[in-house]
Amino acid sequence: MSGIKLTKVNKYFDHNHILKDLDLYIEDGDFMTLLGPSGCGKTTTLRVITGLENPEEGTLSINGKEMVNGAKKYYAPPSKRGLNLVFQSYALWPHMTVFDNVAFGLSINKLPKAEIRSKVESALEKMRIIKYKDRYPSELSGGQQQRVAIARAIVTEPKILLLDEPLSNLDAKLRLEMRAELKRLHRELKTTIVYVTHDQVEALTMSTKIAVFFEGNLVQVDTPRNIYRHPVDLRVADFIGNPKINFIDASCTYEGGAAITESELGRLDIPSVRPTSSVSNKVVLAIYPEDIRISAEKVEGAIPLVVYSVMPAGSETLIQLTTSPDNLLLVKVIGELDYPVGKTVWVTLPLDKINLYDKETGRLVN
Ligand code: ATP
Repeated sequence: MSGIKLTKVNKYFDHNHILKDLDLYIEDGDFMTLLGPSGCGKTTTLRVITGLENPEEGTLSINGKEMVNGAKKYYAPPSKRGLNLVFQSYALWPHMTVFDNVAFGLSINKLPKAEIRSKVESALEKMRIIKYKDRYPSELSGGQQQRVAIARAIVTEPKILLLDEPLSNLDAKLRLEMRAELKRLHRELKTTIVYVTHDQVEALTMSTKIAVFFEGNLVQVDTPRNIYRHPVDLRVADFIGNPKINFIDASCTYEGGAAITESELGRLDIPSVRPTSSVSNKVVLAIYPEDIRISAEKVEGAIPLVVYSVMPAGSETLIQLTTSPDNLLLVKVIGELDYPVGKTVWVTLPLDKINLYDKETGRLVN
């Protein structure tokens, strides 16, 4: 079987259980992002794949070849795994120029000089740093150094590329550009990419699949669209989305295929819910700020709410509405809207965009 397969991987540091029964399959050609808050085990997973860490239990195979077998204490050396890794701390050789840093991986393979030149220049062009080829790392900004590190990794045309927060030192504008570049590189090189980040926007924009981790547990693996639309539990829902999703506590009964919810937003009948006996009647409604419609005029069936604050943000406006003395609903609208604080506005919630979570277990129920 091609791709990277981790099965029942457990990793401990002293007595701390860091990776817990991790099962993850990264298909050949995937851009798989490992996403989660700081300390959840993303980098450790990457290091287990590369062989920089050895898990006590579980197996790892790469393109059908067993690389790790915890039970047999078998760990293939990193050099035998056919991987290329770029760390957040990109570790360039300080005494070598940009060109020589990138050429280093090729030179040791004893390629003809002309071929080395053409491959290095092509990698530098792809990363938009050809003009710095004669500089030394100390003469580059952090972002430029990061791009050199990526060029050095792609110059050998690896089948699998592992990237650990490679854009963390870039400013916002460059980071946006580099996301597009990495996405293009993935398409062009047809490389399998395993990418570590805690930035959910980065994950949503570049990946073909996202694996979400919390405290060493893999909680959800899916396409960016499904992760965004149907986070499997409240932790994932809380982590995904910028601005954050709204949570509203509600009570719930089920009637004729709909969840009848009562909350500070009144009664909302949410369709296509399949209740199970384990679902309690306390639920949390989750809806993204951009899915909420808002109107200054009265709209039939809409909910009247009072404006608490208006935050213009250039191309969009964020509006907080008071739903109860200690709760606010965040709405995002495209363009400028200048409602006065205290004004009553009319809010419509598209019912098919509302996710329902069991308050007790935190699990998605619709
Ligand atoms: P970040 O986004 O902050 O890099 P992460 O999700 O990549 O976080 P890991 O680096 O995988 O997290 O670390 C997971 C946990 O393992 C953390 O609690 C960390 O402190 C611990 N840990 C990592 N490496 C070691 C080590 N060599 N020795 C002891 N504990 C470690």
